Amino acid sequence: MAPRILLGVLLVAPAVIGQTASPQFAKPTVGLILTFQQQPAPAFARELRRSVDEVFRPAGLGFHWLTDLKVQPGTYDRAIVANLTGRCDPRRMDELPATSHGRLQLGTTVVNDGEVIPFINLHCDDMARVVSAQRAVTPNRLQLDAMFYRVAARVMAHELMHALLKTTDHRNTDCARAPLRAADLMMNAKLQPSEVAALREIGRAWHVKLAREGSPAAGQ
Ligand SMILES: [Zn+2]
Repeated sequence: MAPRILLGVLLVAPAVIGQTASPQFAKPTVGLILTFQQQPAPAFARELRRSVDEVFRPAGLGFHWLTDLKVQPGTYDRAIVANLTGRCDPRRMDELPATSHGRLQLGTTVVNDGEVIPFINLHCDDMARVVSAQRAVTPNRLQLDAMFYRVAARVMAHELMHALLKTTDHRNTDCARAPLRAADLMMNAKLQPSEVAALREIGRAWHVKLAREGSPAAGQ
C-alpha cells in the first residue's frame, strides 16, 4: 500500500482539488468522493461507510460520502477522491484466483512532485484475491464476506491517513501498517491515540485557517 506517483490522476476532476473551509459545519469536514470502475455490490458502499466512519469517529472529522465529482468549492474543509478499481463485490472471490496478501498492492495514494495529494485508489479485485486465499482457514461464506468488507475498510483507512496527514510514512499500527498482516484480516482497524491527536490537530488547523482568512481559500 505504499504511495506511488501517478501523474495521470492529476487530470481528473480538477474542480475538487483545493477544497478548503466549511463555514456551515461545526466540525472539520471531509468530502469523500467515491468513483467506481464497475458497479459494486449493493451493500458495498454502505458497509465501507459504516466501517470507515467507525474508525475515524474518535478523530472528530465529519466524512460526507459523495458520488459526484462536482463539489462546490468551499463546501468541505477537504475533498478526497477515492477511485475504486475492479469489482467491489465479495462474490468476486469466486471468479479470481487466491493470492497471498503480501504480494498485492491493495491501495495507493497519489504523490505528485513529492507532495501527497487527495487522490486514493483502492483495488477491489486484489482484495478479493487476498480474502479468497483465506478459504482454507475460514470456510464460512458469511465470515469471508465480512472479511472482504473489513479489508476494504482497512485499506481505505490506510490511504485516507496518507491523504489527510499528507504523509508517505508507515508505522506498525492498524491504519499505518504496510503490508497487511494475516491477523489484520480478522480484526477491525482502530486508530491509536497519537493518530487521533494528529487528525484532531489538522482539523483544528483547517478551522483556525478559516477563521484567520474569513472566507474559503482556493488552491490548497
Ligand atoms: Zn501506505
